[in-house]
Amino acid sequence: MHKGGLFALAVLLTASCAAAQPPAPPAEAPPVATPPVVAIPAPTPPPPTLAPAPTSLSLRCEGAFVQGGIALCRTLPGAQITVDGEARGAADAQGWAVIGFDRFAEGNTNVSARSGGEVVAQALPISARTFGEQRVNGLPQQTVTPTDPAVLERIARERDIKNRGFASRAAVEGWLDGFVIPADGRVSSSWGNRRILNGVPNTPHYGVDIAAPDGTPIRAPAGGVVSLANPDMHYEGGLVFIDHGQGLISMYLHMSRLDVREGDVVTQGQVIGAVGHEGRATGPHLCWRLKWRDRNLDPSVALTALNEARGRFIATP
Ligand SMILES: [Zn+2]
Repeated sequence: MHKGGLFALAVLLTASCAAAQPPAPPAEAPPVATPPVVAIPAPTPPPPTLAPAPTSLSLRCEGAFVQGGIALCRTLPGAQITVDGEARGAADAQGWAVIGFDRFAEGNTNVSARSGGEVVAQALPISARTFGEQRVNGLPQQTVTPTDPAVLERIARERDIKNRGFASRAAVEGWLDGFVIPADGRVSSSWGNRRILNGVPNTPHYGVDIAAPDGTPIRAPAGGVVSLANPDMHYEGGLVFIDHGQGLISMYLHMSRLDVREGDVVTQGQVIGAVGHEGRATGPHLCWRLKWRDRNLDPSVALTALNEARGRFIATP
């Protein structure tokens, strides 16, 4: 290849390279503004919808079928509920009914719903659990085996106060919130333990004890109505009850401060007061309790069971 041929090839290469690249902007060209990056938000999925109430008599229960457990049941709105042969009120206006299982439940819990002479029934097999034993010493003796007539009189008076709190039946559906833990801390005693207090066998421990410093905020685990708020009870110290509806009532013992009053409507996560050590306690902790009508339930089971049960009633599109 002679010299002229090489030059032609170089021009050709230059030309083809130039064609593949955008022309360089003129030196004096004004800077081009970079368009702002706009993030397109992902479409928000609609909140899951709970299936509508049944329009004919049926019964479906979802939950933790264990000793101290809890279930949400769905039936015809207003249906009369019977549990183990006892009348237990009626399903609410959306057909919801709450059922709790005793610590000593054995075999099946029989649930039925009745409306207009028709009855549907279900036998729920309840699983047994094993419970621990707890010895607590150093409690004030008058909170274990009270003998002082003034103390006995006070205990009787306070039993009436608590019974009024337990008798509350607010028309709310707090259990549909699911439960969140009411205080940050370490669980220092589980629910259902057999207890020996100052060497004397006592009733099982019907609370979940959460050890936390005095003043730690206590939050409502779910919405409801305050059915008891007393700052100074013999056994419980500062005591609050929240009625979540359908006979489900949660309790907060040994409180050092109360931020709510009887009749207050509370929402999930709302601070209701603070941890303390008053009453039958050896140190600061929250004793968190839960009752369904006259049955004691395990709040730590309800913590997961209510959310899961609710999830199973979500309408499938
Ligand atoms: Zn306790």
